[in-house]
Amino acid sequence: MEQAQKNPKTFYIRTYGCQMNELDTEIMVGTLENRGLTRTLVENEADLLIYNTCSIRDLAERKVMGKIGQLGRKKEKKALIGVTGCMANAKKDSLFRKLPHIDFVLGTNNIHDLDYVLDEVIATGKQAFKTDDQFTFELDYTKAKRDDKVKAYVSIIRGCDKYCTYCVVPYTRGPEVSRDCLDIVNECKILADQGYREVTLLGQNVNSYGKDKPDMGCLFHDLLYRIDKIEGIDRIRFMTSHPVDITRELMEAVRDLDSLCEFVHFPIQAGSSRILRKMHRIYTYEQYMEKIAMFRKIVPNVALGTDIIVGFPTETEEEFQMTYDALKEIEYSVAFLFAYSARKGTPAMRWKDDVPEEVKQERLHRLMELQEGIYAKQRQQMLGETAEVLVEAATTKDPNLVKGRTRCWKNVVFPGSKDDIGKLVDVKLHSYNNQTLFATPINN
Ligand code: SF4
Repeated sequence: MEQAQKNPKTFYIRTYGCQMNELDTEIMVGTLENRGLTRTLVENEADLLIYNTCSIRDLAERKVMGKIGQLGRKKEKKALIGVTGCMANAKKDSLFRKLPHIDFVLGTNNIHDLDYVLDEVIATGKQAFKTDDQFTFELDYTKAKRDDKVKAYVSIIRGCDKYCTYCVVPYTRGPEVSRDCLDIVNECKILADQGYREVTLLGQNVNSYGKDKPDMGCLFHDLLYRIDKIEGIDRIRFMTSHPVDITRELMEAVRDLDSLCEFVHFPIQAGSSRILRKMHRIYTYEQYMEKIAMFRKIVPNVALGTDIIVGFPTETEEEFQMTYDALKEIEYSVAFLFAYSARKGTPAMRWKDDVPEEVKQERLHRLMELQEGIYAKQRQQMLGETAEVLVEAATTKDPNLVKGRTRCWKNVVFPGSKDDIGKLVDVKLHSYNNQTLFATPINN
């Protein structure tokens, strides 16, 4: 027979996956601390364990299933266990069959129900689950408990309507729902008052912002103009984007707004138009390249980021070579490179995963080598230049060195103190290693 559970006093929360999940975790931490619980970083000391999961890759899912499965093999079950995030939406109540020892499942669109679900589990001792298909922006973002004091994530749109054939997001996060622009601007003002200097606007496809709410009269570039006016916010970033929704107005905003950083994620995914069609990316390689050319004409110093998948079903060596050539030609500043893995529930799952794993890995390796060379070349070209760095923290190894990022998202380390944290400092770049540029501050 079920029994009422003890009220938990401490909690441990672990986040898998993307920035959207990190922000959801910050909101859950705030909610739990408001309830009087104390966060612990030691898993086996906590009365409540929450795993905020990711479904984007098979490996990420297997890792978390293994992790939570292990907890079920413990003789004594002490802590309450909750599974939140994309796996909760993708697997719904079947999670209870696979992991019978968990206590609640909360979908990405139900983070605001955490208090309610916890009350239910504690009162009844029964398992509880809540996974809605559509997000309703009932979340109180001011509850978020952020560890970072300089940069903050701000959610502007949830879900995705693009339905790329390899991606689970439209199924795990539901359709696009834009947050009210006044709420977003208000949150940014509050963050500025709290001393935050940089906001990153988050969504699966931020460029679609506002299209689902035509009455609001605020598209993505309009929102950027509004946030740019907020005193104290020195930098605006956003992620992630779909190339189709990157408009001329957005490019002009990157050129014209002082606080909007000249770094834009512009994911190509593949260099072959046939593969792009099979991925349902709704642009051809030629259309993509035209947009890149337009962007570089409007903002000559724009730095671009990308995601690429190699070994998509039916990809030939020749088609892979097109991706390789695109990477070489475009010279992205940041590239996230992946080998394809089929995701349950996606259209691509129905196709034979016919590129052998060793071929995928070999193609991935070739792309990585190419990109490493591009990174090194870009860093080399920056030597002797000056850059503006927003200082985020002292380095862990040496308190007399501080680290931060340039507007174009390059990591920089230079001599400084904790008084520099949160400030914009002009530096001269003099050397680099694999990940980082080293610099000397310029005393104005
Ligand atoms: S646009 Fe991005 S989030 Fe949306 S389906 Fe495609 S890959 Fe997934």
